[in-house]
Amino acid sequence: MTDPDSDSRPTIDRRKFLTLAGATGIAGLAGCDGGGTTGDTPSGTATDTPTDTDTPTETSTDTPTETDTPTETATEPPAENGPFAEIPAPSGEGVERPSGDAGTLQVLDWAGFESAVTYTFDDGQPSHVAHYDELEATGADVTFYVSVNAEPEGAQETWKQAIEDGHEIGNHTVSHPHDDLSGSSFGEPEDSLAAEIEDCTEYITETLGQGDVWTFAAPFGEGGWTEPARESDLFLNRGVGGGSIAPGDGTDPYNLSCYMATEGDTADTFNGKIDSARSNGEWLIFLFHSIRPTDQEWFAPVDVGEITGSVEHATGYDDVWVDTVANVGAYWRGQQILESAAAEESGDETTWTWTVPEDYPSHQTVRVTVDGGTLSQNGTELEWNSSGYYEVALDEESLTLSP
Ligand SMILES: [Zn+2]
Repeated sequence: MTDPDSDSRPTIDRRKFLTLAGATGIAGLAGCDGGGTTGDTPSGTATDTPTDTDTPTETSTDTPTETDTPTETATEPPAENGPFAEIPAPSGEGVERPSGDAGTLQVLDWAGFESAVTYTFDDGQPSHVAHYDELEATGADVTFYVSVNAEPEGAQETWKQAIEDGHEIGNHTVSHPHDDLSGSSFGEPEDSLAAEIEDCTEYITETLGQGDVWTFAAPFGEGGWTEPARESDLFLNRGVGGGSIAPGDGTDPYNLSCYMATEGDTADTFNGKIDSARSNGEWLIFLFHSIRPTDQEWFAPVDVGEITGSVEHATGYDDVWVDTVANVGAYWRGQQILESAAAEESGDETTWTWTVPEDYPSHQTVRVTVDGGTLSQNGTELEWNSSGYYEVALDEESLTLSP
């Protein structure tokens, strides 16, 4: 509803995202105070030799991949229950297919939900491992940003389980240094910021077995990570600056804002923010550090019951989409890709074409409506979904509306 495009006709060609929003450092107040202080840093860390040979074979068989489009190198189809599992349908079955004149292509915000909420947990802390089962029991898919060298006892098993359960493991570097490579929270820094990112990605794919890594969270939320993240093959970076995100609002995808929980926050704190994001039609990302009860209070501890209570509050709304950074973020950027597509009219047909950015994940879709007519992609007619939309495959890079 806040989408400035919502009233436009078939011609939507704006190209304004990726503005360089102020990526200034927010070093001082940033979270992630690291575990170094509590003397827990595990000794024999970060051995990346996978103990067991069998990288989890996620069931890649059934998701309809359809051949075609040579998008990047052999990205496997999304795991059935991975972070890119099919986006849920908003409630409200039984919407008739639009039967008016062909026109008014409109991309739905947040996949047809009013708003979106994401829960993120930074550093791969021992208290995340300890409370994993309670988080999983909420049924919501969340994002764990892990630092390789933090790896507390039981972490590998927990992260592997999290991947299997449909959560996202995100990149939070190897040693969690500042953006000048000083003051690593966990062990020694790598040679460069880029290496900190690449080696963490390798750990997540090779050791933990996640199919790929899609998103990053800058240690300490520092601005110096923005460019290395942009140059990596990750497509989003979560910072620590406060605020929520609107569709097409010009937010830099490499400096996503969030609400960073502070010690003493309660479910009421979080629920108020969820409600306000919902009424504003925005995406709210939460950032949590230590989870109580724990004897490993690294930073800004919050009681697990306050977190799960807030997840239940969010999932209690059937018009709020609760999902990972990767999944909501792919939709948010996907909407911008389609909205900035070039339109060309030929006779009574309009065709939009676009190019999917190289670092953007494959197999993503966005949901659209029209007043009427027939939508097709490269000759294949799209089916109307009775929840109220057509689903457009971004990999096709083309969409045609005809009477
Ligand atoms: Zn951190």
